[in-house]
Order: sequence, then C-alpha cells, then structure tokens
Amino acid sequence: MTTNTLTVLDGSDAPMRALVLDSAAARRGAATRRLDLRDIARPVPPAPGWVLVRPSLAGISARDLALLDSDQTLPPVGAPRRLPMVPGGEVVGVIEAVNGTRWAQEGQRVLVEPNAGCLVRGFPSCSRCAAGEAELCENRDRRSLIGPAADGGLAGGGGWSEGVLAHEEMLIPADGISDQRGVLGVSLASAIHAVLRWGRRGERVAVIGSGTTTSLVVAALRRLHPDVDITVMVDARGPQREGRRRRKLPAHLAVDERSIALALEDLGAARVWRGSPAQLIDRTADLVGARRRRSEGDALPVLDRGLDAVFDCRGTAASVTLGMRLLRSAGTMVVAGRAGRFELDWAAVWSRELVIAGSGGFGREPAGWRTFAAVREWLTDPAFPVDGLVTHRFPLDAFDIALATAAAGEAMGAVKVVFEDPLSPLRQRRLAVDNEVPMDDPTSPVLLATTAARARRSDEVHS
Ligand SMILES: [Zn+2]
Repeated sequence: MTTNTLTVLDGSDAPMRALVLDSAAARRGAATRRLDLRDIARPVPPAPGWVLVRPSLAGISARDLALLDSDQTLPPVGAPRRLPMVPGGEVVGVIEAVNGTRWAQEGQRVLVEPNAGCLVRGFPSCSRCAAGEAELCENRDRRSLIGPAADGGLAGGGGWSEGVLAHEEMLIPADGISDQRGVLGVSLASAIHAVLRWGRRGERVAVIGSGTTTSLVVAALRRLHPDVDITVMVDARGPQREGRRRRKLPAHLAVDERSIALALEDLGAARVWRGSPAQLIDRTADLVGARRRRSEGDALPVLDRGLDAVFDCRGTAASVTLGMRLLRSAGTMVVAGRAGRFELDWAAVWSRELVIAGSGGFGREPAGWRTFAAVREWLTDPAFPVDGLVTHRFPLDAFDIALATAAAGEAMGAVKVVFEDPLSPLRQRRLAVDNEVPMDDPTSPVLLATTAARARRSDEVHS
C-alpha cells in the first residue's frame, strides 16, 4: 500500500493552456458551441490512484467533431457532458504528477484507455463494471462521487490541453510504442472491437468509409483473419454534414485518390472502390458471382450470395442501406460509424435474417481479454503497418486549421489529425534522448502518409 502523496512539479500552480468548448451566443434561438484556446487552472489528481498526464499527441476523433457541431445533440449516454469542457479522448503522453499510485510514476510515457468505470469514479460497482465492461458502466451519466475532476478527466475528454487527469486503472505503459502509433490506441481499440463483433462466418467482407476507423478496421481484419478478402468502398460523396465549419484549403494540400487507395492496400485491402451505391452493388455482384435481386418499386437490387460481412464505418443512411444490400442472407452488418436517426427498410433485415451488430466502444472482449492488451501488443510490433496514419500534426493554437483538416478528411488526404505539444519540456528531453529527427518547422503540418505514398509511387514509376 503506497502512501497518499501528492507530487507537485515546479510551476504546476501556473495555469495551463486548453481548448475549451463552451456555449456561445444563441443563434436563431438555439444555443451554439464555441471552441477557444484559454488559460485554465492545471488540474490536480483528486484522489489516490489519479495522475495528471501531459499529452504529447492528442487525436481529433469523429466523436470530438460531433461535439463541436452545434447542430448535433450530445450523445444521450456516456460520461456527463457539461459545458464548458475540454474535448479530446485520444491521448499518448507523459505522467506529470501522481497521487498515491501503485505503479505509475512521474515521467512515464503512457497510453490512456478512456473508460472510467465505477471503481475509479467512486461508485460501488454496477453490474456492467462487475463484469469487466466499464465502457458500458451504468453510472456513466451520473456525477462522480469523487468530484467534478473525475468527470472532467479523460472519460469525458480533456486531451486537447497541456494536462488531463486519468486514473491509474486507465493507463497502459507506452514502452516501445512511438507517440505517432500510441495516439492511435483508442481508434485501434474501437476497430478491434468492431472486427470481433463479427462472429467470423465466411471470407468476403467490405469496409465502407475512408477515415481512421476504416483504415484500422482493415488492419485489424487483416491481422485477426489473414485469409479474408477485403474490399474497401469509399463513398465518393462523403459524409458532408451541413452546418459543419469548413475552410478552404490550398489545392496543393489535397491528395489524389490513388495514394489513398495505395495506403489502404498496404493495410490489407485487396481493392479500393469508389462509386455510386448502384455501381458498388454491381461490381460486388460481378466480383463474388452474386445474383442481383430486385423487388418491385425498388431502385437498387439486393445480392443473393453476396458478402459475408460489411463493416460500416460511415454510419449514414446511404452507407447502412448500401451495406445491407451487399450482404448475403444471414450476413452480418457491423455498424461502427456514428449513425444517427434515419429510416431503414427493416423488411430487408428480417426477411433475409441479417445480423446487425453495433460497435461503439471497447473494454473487454468476449474471450475475456482487455482490448487495450491487444492494442499494446499490436502497436509494439513494428510489422503492424500503421505508421502512416497520423497525417497531420498541429499545435493547440492552430486549432482552427486542425479541425478543418480533420473534418475535410479524405478530401485533404487526412487520416488521423492530432494536436502536438512541441513545448513540453519532457517531450523535448525525450526527443534528445531518442534522437528523433525534429520537424524543420514545428508550426507546419507534416504530411506523412501523403509523402510516403508519393515516394512509393515514384519508386514504382522508376522501377
Ligand atoms: Zn459501473
């Protein structure tokens, strides 16, 4: 049993910078949300077992982008979300302060699993937490008994800052995992969970989408099922939600479709297709020898002897409808995208006995192992080919362009866009130790995947 000590770093009483999401002036009678870079009080670990992590890299996820969108309601379940709040649930960082921890120490690099169950938030264990499924905790929507700090910690965001609280139970040592790979931990855990939601029956699957989840679902499928045939379907029209803030970006930042396809093929896709739903259904029918079946008054056919599984990482009405039509009878549709409310032809589900499996989190998988145990093992393995997925890095104060890049996604060649902490003294010390090559200009985004894909293409041309 360790003593309850609170270690305070020099200068820790100084404020820190954070991107704070708050309500702004009402627009047409509706409350809007607004993100600002502010100086806020540096959080202090509130109880034994809690630590303060300084993010080295913090990812921008689809969940974060939805939070920023004033036109979208906050999710009905999940950690209490009260404004103001600091978004950002994808963090790799360095422990800066600890309070009575068992193994976590200052200066340690860690990944953070953003699942705070009853144990760490001061509740008696609910039935889900007792079953090891903290991600489905029945007390998620209640305020922590420890105090607001336990709700403001990573379970509710907090990573877009210079310090975020987490409990030791949520930490995974990052030894042997670079920041660039480590920041993918949460997305990879979601992808592994999505793949495991498919009780493998068959060998032909499609993945619909174009972002980080799509890439990592492809990589996870390839790793868990080396023999499956994977087609990625990039819906060329994209999820252009109205009301999302966008900014025009210089044309030279955009990448061509071929380099995106090459990157997905590197991860394990056999082919990458674009096109309208009708074209994608047609090509699939030809590929697998399926029969197109069209019922009266139906614009699109369904496939007999179609695909065994579809992973929908987009979650729009169009992508879910497309996925259901591509499936064979009794095929499985894993909904990994953030689908909202829309109409669906449920006759296609019951009459063909499709299995619809939702996938929204991770924690412990059916075999009993922690999803993040696989994340750690895979990210430590240099053969797991995800180095190119962090395509853009920005400092916190360039948040406007960072968010615009993340929202544009594929259109700008962006996969995972992250905030970087170039000023962290711990990071600079580590850079010196690791002898990493620092960026020429820390304020400019690094287009890793684009550069790599282009270099590969020019190699092919010259060979
Ligand atoms: Zn619980």
